[in-house]
Amino acid sequence: MNMLNDNLQVNKTGHLTIGGVDTVELAEEFGTPLYVMDESKIRQVCQMYKRSIDKCYGGNGLPLFASKAFCCKEICRIMKEEGMGLDVVSGGELYTAMQAEFPAALIQFHGNNKTQEEISYALTCGVGHFVVDNLTELRLLNQTAGKMQRKANILLRIKPGIDAHTHQFIRTGQIDSKFGFALETGEAMEAVKAAVQAENLLLTGVHCHIGSQIFEVQPFVLAAKVMLGFMRDVKAETGLELQELNLGGGFGIKYVETDQPVPYDQYMEQVSEAVHTCCREYELTPPKIYMEPGRSIVGEAGLTLYKVGAVKTIPDIRTYVSVDGGMTDNPRYILYQSAYEAVVANKVDQPADFEVTIAGRCCESGDLIQEDARIQQCTPGDILAVLSTGAYNYSMASNYNRVPRPAVVFVRDGKARLAVRRETYADLVHNDI
Ligand SMILES: *Cc1c(COP(=O)(O)O)cnc(C)c1O
Repeated sequence: MNMLNDNLQVNKTGHLTIGGVDTVELAEEFGTPLYVMDESKIRQVCQMYKRSIDKCYGGNGLPLFASKAFCCKEICRIMKEEGMGLDVVSGGELYTAMQAEFPAALIQFHGNNKTQEEISYALTCGVGHFVVDNLTELRLLNQTAGKMQRKANILLRIKPGIDAHTHQFIRTGQIDSKFGFALETGEAMEAVKAAVQAENLLLTGVHCHIGSQIFEVQPFVLAAKVMLGFMRDVKAETGLELQELNLGGGFGIKYVETDQPVPYDQYMEQVSEAVHTCCREYELTPPKIYMEPGRSIVGEAGLTLYKVGAVKTIPDIRTYVSVDGGMTDNPRYILYQSAYEAVVANKVDQPADFEVTIAGRCCESGDLIQEDARIQQCTPGDILAVLSTGAYNYSMASNYNRVPRPAVVFVRDGKARLAVRRETYADLVHNDI
């Protein structure tokens, strides 16, 4: 049987397994909805990113996990063990990392509107780099670092003018983004000069992030070239040779059979070549490279288990299969009409000949997981698995309709362990006065 990802199998009883664990048994043991994360798969992807930097770039780089894709203490512990860096975009993500004893020096702090409190907290923690988005932040960080008698390493977030969409990319229109400094207007060069002047800041390099769920290598290569061109200009204009280049994340994953991600090491191979070529041409020392994958580290490693409730057939229109979760645990369909593949976990060996719309339980007509999906015939009580939900599901979950967030379990070597407890009704009123 051909499953979406190689960590998914069907066992003798016709049940879906992930990382060697029977998903129907997981649903029984931990309840539904349930997020399941395949730890071995996560570790394999981390190792692959590290290997590709070693192989293609002489090890002069570090992959950072963009924790906004999936943030809890356990994933931070795993990233620490794998020798990864970590991206955070809020005080809350930073706090989670610190609670997991993640080394602060390997953390980069992103965001287009970091608050005074977050900046002070991050300085106290000793985060490795601030990725500075704008001049307001630059001033605030410089002042705050001064008061605290610290020096902050910074990268400047640059808009490289490359708009990488899933199947095409164009080089215009990118000035209109809320993130970063524009190249075309001279804003980025002004920011460099301001950063060099700021006495409590140490400008080590530049950063860009061109988009998400990208299936081509070319936009990344182009971004690297644009950034090196800027580094050349910075050297010519200020004499400063920047030593670090963060090329962002955005590597595409497989949500449905037709998605064709590029093998991740090909990104590094081609980007490294472009970096080295530019450096020779511009007479620059090759910078330390950072990359920041989020989705590609955790996305395919995760799935969500639901229990099927009402099955409602509207003659000649459609059949709704309602599950015990929905937009509260996976808001990606209502946000972006994202494609997902689903299977009936206790009947995966049966033909997927039932065309249904999978509906959530919230009071919103748009609360769907997928329209016109083909799954196995199912009845109330069956377990539905939605695949490739490891990224931007748990991290985007909400308590809309006062639905408690599901638990998260990690599976490895045929065993499951709880990583995040299921929220209770008491948790829901915890902060209510
Ligand atoms: C979201 C984001 C990432 C991660 O993107 P993925 O598509 O999950 O790989 C990396 N860097 C920055 C700055 C981001 O905003």
